[in-house]
Amino acid sequence: MITPYPHLLAPLDLGFTTLPNRVLMGSMHTGLEDGRKHFPAMAAYFAERARGGVGLIVTGGFAPNIEAWAKPFAGTLATSGAARRHRQVTDAVHAEGGRIALQILHTGRYGYQPLCVAPSRIQSPISPFTPRELSARGIERQIRAFVRCARLARDAGYDGVEVMGSEGYFINQFLVTHTNHRSDEWGGTYENRMRLPVEIVQRVREAVGADFIVIYRLSMLDLIPDGSSWPEAVLLAKAVVKAGATIINTGIGWHEARVPTIATSVPRGAFAWVTKKMRDELHAAGITTPLVTSNRINTPAVAEQVLADGSADMVSLARPLLADADFVAKARAGRADDINTCIACNQACLDHTFKNRLASCLVNPRAGQETVLRIVPTLQRRRFAVVGAGPAGLAAATTLAERGHEVDLYESAPQIGGQFNMARRVPGKEEFAETLRYFRRRIDATGVRVHLNARAAAQALIGQRYDTVILATGVSARDPRIPGQDGAQVLSYIDVLLHDKPVGERVVIVGAGGIGFDVAEFLVTAPGHSPTLNLQAWLAEWGVADPAAVRGGVVRPRPAAPARQVTLLQRKAGKLGKGLGKTTGWIHRAALQMKQVEMIGGVNYERITPAGLFITYGEQRRDGQLIECDTVVLCAGQEPMRDLQAPLVAAGVRVHLIGGADEAAELDAKRAIDQGTRLAASL
Ligand code: NAP
Ligand code: SF4
Repeated sequence: MITPYPHLLAPLDLGFTTLPNRVLMGSMHTGLEDGRKHFPAMAAYFAERARGGVGLIVTGGFAPNIEAWAKPFAGTLATSGAARRHRQVTDAVHAEGGRIALQILHTGRYGYQPLCVAPSRIQSPISPFTPRELSARGIERQIRAFVRCARLARDAGYDGVEVMGSEGYFINQFLVTHTNHRSDEWGGTYENRMRLPVEIVQRVREAVGADFIVIYRLSMLDLIPDGSSWPEAVLLAKAVVKAGATIINTGIGWHEARVPTIATSVPRGAFAWVTKKMRDELHAAGITTPLVTSNRINTPAVAEQVLADGSADMVSLARPLLADADFVAKARAGRADDINTCIACNQACLDHTFKNRLASCLVNPRAGQETVLRIVPTLQRRRFAVVGAGPAGLAAATTLAERGHEVDLYESAPQIGGQFNMARRVPGKEEFAETLRYFRRRIDATGVRVHLNARAAAQALIGQRYDTVILATGVSARDPRIPGQDGAQVLSYIDVLLHDKPVGERVVIVGAGGIGFDVAEFLVTAPGHSPTLNLQAWLAEWGVADPAAVRGGVVRPRPAAPARQVTLLQRKAGKLGKGLGKTTGWIHRAALQMKQVEMIGGVNYERITPAGLFITYGEQRRDGQLIECDTVVLCAGQEPMRDLQAPLVAAGVRVHLIGGADEAAELDAKRAIDQGTRLAASL
């Protein structure tokens, strides 16, 4: 078979079993692990990915005991009763011809629960609980828990386990002096600090036998100042191979690291060079144990590239398989353009997890919802008009057409995409273009009739006698009514992001929501210099270094100079960007701080003059100050556009409102796509 992805689709012989291709579905906590009532949903979720052809699935993390919990009552595999419940998951995956390994996750001091334990009594910056320091007997108890969990996983029908040794969790905490201050046989020298993972892998291997996959996820780049050195990471890799690991997976960055590792602004395949460095070391020592590389690999082309250049033997895709369960099947069929690409936004996956909600996917609301959100063919073909081809309208139109309905999609702009056409122009958000490519393909495949440059009028829609009209007409920019805002130096975010209006050297941005931050990012970056598209620039910007040169692989960031002097304002007092994504807000704030963007809250906008924007502070309107600037950009939020609703309803037409037209205050692509898909699935 001729394929553009010969390395990706090549089988991988592990000696006792052969994986059909080089795609490992990386572990991703979805929340389905944390309640037995979710097990049928978890079985359906993984079965769909197995059907889509992934080579080996790794589950979200399961704790081997209660001290290991990520949060109270987190999913645990410690009894044979629990193992029996897992059968429905392993059976469902095997019925689809797939393979699945269970991840054993001990969170140590990252545990968001009072029973957490660690090598030393050192609280982490991401949990309010201080861990209990383990005695030597306590450590032995943890090792036995890992071994018991692995044995139970085998009893439950899993094909293997992944021992989570990276990302700053329990095992990682033993490896570095940052968190291990012990002076007994588990601390001090590196040989002592690495004793824990080696013991775990060795005793797990003894317990499960030779024909069971044992993956060890090894932190190759800690991204914390006193993290592991490179020789230490190499020594550990060799030791876990000797101890019986079948595969070594790559871990990048502790959770407390101040370097983004998977966000959309991280270049694709940004860390494959780290795995390659390790692979070269192991090959030089005659070790050919397969290595998996990870992080921001979201298309078959990127995956093929990192395998072809010898960076790794397998690629780990976690979020990309939430976004599209059929990633591998589509790549195999030469239909890569039909893949619903993960845009690394974290909005419906990690952000949900951190808010204790079940994970799903912004571009694929069916992820994790396979048993409840079904797209089934309609029994009665009907005619629909969808007005507005932003994310909500696109999701609704293509889902309706996929179900067999006849759909006209009207869009007043010359192209589909709505707000995504602006988002994709923001440095660090280039991935948003992939969603538009996907929807273009879906429109072609499903037969939606698209009418561009077509502002649908109520009378025309009424005259067409549609069965139902769906209004996805989006939003208009809110008018902040600032005296002087009619001046030529005042622009809206649409002028800047969509129409390329000239912007001066000194800029004040009114409004610090998601779009205010996006505009700031756009304006401080020189055109064509998005670090997301230039790995070396990005590594310098965030201070990522060769771990062989610097312990932990972090140095002082060296960001490029800002293209403009930008001030970002909001009326609310307090920190700017509070409403941004839970797992990405800090990245946006840090990125703007590196570009010396001044962020000021608690202001009143008094007037705009040719010299700049005059502001005061607080309710007393004190401390009047002119912020001198050449351009003011208004990013003051949106109002819904739903003018068509009243005349259509008056004429007796069935109407549904979705997306920003329904709720502008929560204008958000996640909600828009979810709402459009669910509505279309139900009609
Ligand atoms: P937004 O998040 O609602 O922010 C609007 C901003 O305008 C706020 O800073 C608000 O703060 C200010 N504002 C509101 N009324 C105002 C008025 N009358 N006069 C002056 N300022 C006013 O809206 P957005 O920034 O347009 O973003 C829209 C949506 O897009 C967001 O909800 C978000 O979901 C999504 N988005 C997210 C991201 C991201 O997470 N990175 C990026 C882009 C878009 P004050 O009221 O305190 O002044
Ligand atoms: Fe990827 Fe965003 Fe979906 Fe998460 S929510 S899987 S980051 S597209």
